[in-house]
Amino acid sequence: MRIVVIEDERAISRLIRTGYGRDEAEVLDATTGEAGMQLVAKANPDVVLLDLGLPDMDGQEVCRRLREWTDVPIIVVSARGKEDDKVLALDNGADDYMTKPFGLNELQARVRASLRHSLRRKAAEPEPVFRSGDIEVDLQARVVRLTGEEVRLTATEYKLLAMLVRHAGMVLTHKQILEEVWGPAYVDELHYLRVYMGQLRHKLEPDPTRPRLLRTESGVGYRLMAE
Ligand code: CA
Repeated sequence: MRIVVIEDERAISRLIRTGYGRDEAEVLDATTGEAGMQLVAKANPDVVLLDLGLPDMDGQEVCRRLREWTDVPIIVVSARGKEDDKVLALDNGADDYMTKPFGLNELQARVRASLRHSLRRKAAEPEPVFRSGDIEVDLQARVVRLTGEEVRLTATEYKLLAMLVRHAGMVLTHKQILEEVWGPAYVDELHYLRVYMGQLRHKLEPDPTRPRLLRTESGVGYRLMAE
């Protein structure tokens, strides 16, 4: 197992090195966000431990940027214990959040849990067709079907649906969706998103006013329900 620790204090990597034998885990550390992101790209770790208080940038930003390209489990380790910080970290794609101080046993248990989740995720990967209720989305063929009938979507509708399918079951924030589907200049154009979400619901939901698949997460964003 390879662990990357992004943290300006060495205490956490020391704790991990104490806890795992040398043949159990290789612990690599970076003390800035920038160096940490490069290390993740280079080392391809099994799990990342990420501090929020970094000298060059906020760990939340590091988390968000890692999630643009990697599914590696990220466990945030932070002295910040406020609910808002946890919610933001989870929305930014963190898998877990630990408040300092914590013990070695808890840390090891959480690392085990995120490894289990990522293995399960990988095992599920070869299935390219998403199904939920009567809806079927074939990401490879770019085909959407409702009760077996092909549904015609515009390019933007499809892009939006595909993004939600790729993160099925997870809450995506308005900003994340706008940035990915429309581009970074559009992160404040909430009404675009509302209009297109309405169109998608109209095409896919039996009752668009009471959506079962494309759920609104009030004040946060949207979630596509996975079965
Ligand atoms: Ca720190």
